[in-house]
Amino acid sequence: DTATVSHSFQAEVSELLHLMVHSVYSETDIFLRELVSNASDACDKLRYEAIARPELIGDGEPPQIRIIPDKTANTLTIADSGIGMDRQELIDHLGTIARSGTKAFVQKLAEAKDGTGLIGQFGVGFYSAFMVADRITVISRRAGGSEVWTWTSSGGAGFEVAPSSEEDANRVTRGTEIVLHLKDDAKKYLETYEIERIVTAYSDNIQFPIMLVQPEGEPRQINSASALWQRSKSELSAEDYAKAYKSIANAFDEPAMTLHYRAEGRYSYAVLLFAPSTKPFDLFEPARKGKVKLYVRRVFITDDADLMPAYLRFIRGVIDSEDLPLNLSREMLQNNPQLAQIRKAVTTRVISELEQLAEKDAENFDKIWESFGAVIKEGLYEDFERRDKLLALARFITTSGEKRSLKQYVEGLKENQTEIYFLVGDSIERLKSNPRLEAAKARGVEVLLLTDPVDAFWTSARLEFDGKPLKSLSQGDINFDPIPVTESTPADEAQPAADEANTIALIKASLGDHVTDVKVSTRLTTSASCLVAGSHGPDRELERILSQQAR
Ligand code: ADP
Ligand code: MG
Repeated sequence: DTATVSHSFQAEVSELLHLMVHSVYSETDIFLRELVSNASDACDKLRYEAIARPELIGDGEPPQIRIIPDKTANTLTIADSGIGMDRQELIDHLGTIARSGTKAFVQKLAEAKDGTGLIGQFGVGFYSAFMVADRITVISRRAGGSEVWTWTSSGGAGFEVAPSSEEDANRVTRGTEIVLHLKDDAKKYLETYEIERIVTAYSDNIQFPIMLVQPEGEPRQINSASALWQRSKSELSAEDYAKAYKSIANAFDEPAMTLHYRAEGRYSYAVLLFAPSTKPFDLFEPARKGKVKLYVRRVFITDDADLMPAYLRFIRGVIDSEDLPLNLSREMLQNNPQLAQIRKAVTTRVISELEQLAEKDAENFDKIWESFGAVIKEGLYEDFERRDKLLALARFITTSGEKRSLKQYVEGLKENQTEIYFLVGDSIERLKSNPRLEAAKARGVEVLLLTDPVDAFWTSARLEFDGKPLKSLSQGDINFDPIPVTESTPADEAQPAADEANTIALIKASLGDHVTDVKVSTRLTTSASCLVAGSHGPDRELERILSQQAR
């Protein structure tokens, strides 16, 4: 066939497929939720494009998803009447991995001894279908398009793209059909009870009807297709929310926090947001993009509207507005005052929900802090207005060996202690042996040990908590004298003060221009000397990180 063109997969895709084919991974069910999730995205995109171009749907089939098991042919087909893909889109979207999070994930998979467990934890999109199929055929017609193209692959190195047969082209009037030629050990996916089990577990919240199509009998809808966030809180259980989280966020973990409410007043909108309990792979992407989905009256508009500030980019879910226009353009998303208002109000609400969680459900709050604390701390220098609230939320490992809030720290202040002390560095272990801790230790004074890269940044601003300034032990002007020494150390033994002036003069002379000053300090007890930054210059640790980045 001269019209058939072969293409090779991007290297990462081949690697991923290799891993999948050779894995002994047993949780293969996820392929179905990935394909249904893609079908649902395609229906969302169609509904959105049809706002401006209603002829795309016209009097054709409303957007829906069909699952068709065929025991004779040994195939399972997932079909949607969504947006479809043209030839170039088939090549681009089903031949590469665009999302860098997934790329990072594939690398992790390849490195891990048994990385296969990770597949079930995060999912790998379309390509997961190769866990159950030894050949996949994708037939697609872009909405409004006249051409129908067929993509085929048996995994391995590449895929082929060719014009579809006349029969296929007549059948696929809009959208995409994905035909899985099932492996021998994946035949169970032809059983309707298996299909229903998986759809109910993971895809029940998909907004579009999912129809099970069998050779005999009428197609039957197997999901509830409701906009769960529009329902009242009182009729929903924790399990309903957990399911909604998984299908809305395409997530595999349990939500550590759920926030569901309806705002009424000047603007009306429904909010259903979740905090995951595990870290995704793209958390520290430079783009720092959030993924909260914007809906307008149940129609998906975009997940690119930056509905959360960057330091809350891990929050997932939906905001569904009653008043925004359906035909929101990119520019309107940027500048719409109503959207700005919603952003602000929801951010405040998320933070107060985190505060409540910290009080009432420390276990789940800890999961969030463990996974996303380093991200939330970005808010300490980005969100001036909410800085105090964020400081109160923050948890720190201290020299006590425990994780503490600043409230707890302040409750444990020593006699005459008026400041909160911290030290920034690479690792807790290295910080613990830092000589700058000695004077604090001798007085039983607790010190925050900060080891996230972001710590060097937010601590460079002058901050206070509860009226107590935060002070770095690696900066100059710390005076521990007023705080009584509680632990006896070699430094307690009387020192001949007379020698001090001589010693200092000697050191100054030999160090010359390398230092700005040499001083006697009470901050050390067992070490002889240490280097500190001046009180007004940048923190030494910040200097170090900046010099690393400049390299
Ligand atoms: P993701 O859904 O996270 O983008 P996938 O690997 O699941 O990653 O899918 C890759 C891309 O392939 C999608 O972003 C989409 O552009 C395209 N795609 C997959 N399935 C469909 C479909 N049924 N209809 C239209 N486009 C699809
Ligand atoms: Mg997908």
